[in-house]
Amino acid sequence: MSEVKAYGAADSEADLKQMSIERREVKPRDVKIKITYCGVCHSDIHTVRNDWGNSMYPAVPGHEIIGEVLEVGSEVTDFKVGQTVGVGCMVDSCRECEPCKHDLEQFCEKGMVGTYNGKDKHLGGHTFGGYSEEIIVDHYYVLSVPENLDTKAVAPLLCAGITTFSPLNHWKVGKGDKVGVIGLGGLGHMGIKFAHAMGAHVVMITTSPEKAEDAKRLGADEVLISKDEDAMKKHRGSFDFLLNTVPVAHDINPYLQLLKIDSTMCMVGAIEPLPDVHGGNLIMGRKNVAGSLIGGIKETQEMLDFCGEHDVVSDIELIDINTINEAYERVVNGDVKYRFVIDMESLRNAN
Ligand SMILES: [Zn+2]
Ligand SMILES: [Zn+2]
Repeated sequence: MSEVKAYGAADSEADLKQMSIERREVKPRDVKIKITYCGVCHSDIHTVRNDWGNSMYPAVPGHEIIGEVLEVGSEVTDFKVGQTVGVGCMVDSCRECEPCKHDLEQFCEKGMVGTYNGKDKHLGGHTFGGYSEEIIVDHYYVLSVPENLDTKAVAPLLCAGITTFSPLNHWKVGKGDKVGVIGLGGLGHMGIKFAHAMGAHVVMITTSPEKAEDAKRLGADEVLISKDEDAMKKHRGSFDFLLNTVPVAHDINPYLQLLKIDSTMCMVGAIEPLPDVHGGNLIMGRKNVAGSLIGGIKETQEMLDFCGEHDVVSDIELIDINTINEAYERVVNGDVKYRFVIDMESLRNAN
């Protein structure tokens, strides 16, 4: 085992501060990674503050990890020292159940092992994430990063990216489709970029008119203000697919009315009870409401390769780790365009 510097919270009330954590020795199938950048996801904050009631402490979050391979185990042939790699939301799964066998490890029947706050099979206790100098991960859960991309802006692709890419890919969004992206935050801004790169006609759907200009810069062809009833009426029954990234409970009925017959709205933001859905909004037009969670390892690699081909990265604000607590406040207030990424040199240089 080795000790590395990390940043984490001692309990649900505490700020994040520097601490020391243990990493396992490199096993035959492992890749040891020097972390260079780590994105800040809203889930990090939920975990640190125990919003979901299942947090283990100390909590060291971070599941949008970019780094450089320092060492590979004796059986690893798919990665080499010095290569730029990524690690997303999971570092293990059972590999035997039906979902695992079908490249859907995120739905592993035995439960995927989260990059943080998961059950550590090697050292016991729980897993520690990317707010740290180094991480050791089984090669199967390590992703290769296309060389032409700006690596710090790739970090958020590992969670925000795959969360939005996977449903657009699964429902085969492409040329000729009219796609609505609801909500413009960390997820929504990636949804616009992907849908645009896939060739769809993209409509940003938001409550905030002031977001229109930015939405167009990101690739939206149109902006629909959801509070404008006339505008909503004009778009009624016209969408082939809706990607709903709103992170909190909200009334989805007005959006269902926007869908064409047989079309789907996929939820990726709000993991909580939603207000009543009127059955008529589903029955009239044979409409679907669906959900989606990140993506499997194979699809995450496909997403990164797609980003390499289409030059898609996240819009980020790079921060030093000692400003992480302020950054959390800003994420909670929706005051970031569109993802914070921690420069991990700032942790290595800390005393
Ligand atoms: Zn995340
Ligand atoms: Zn499994």
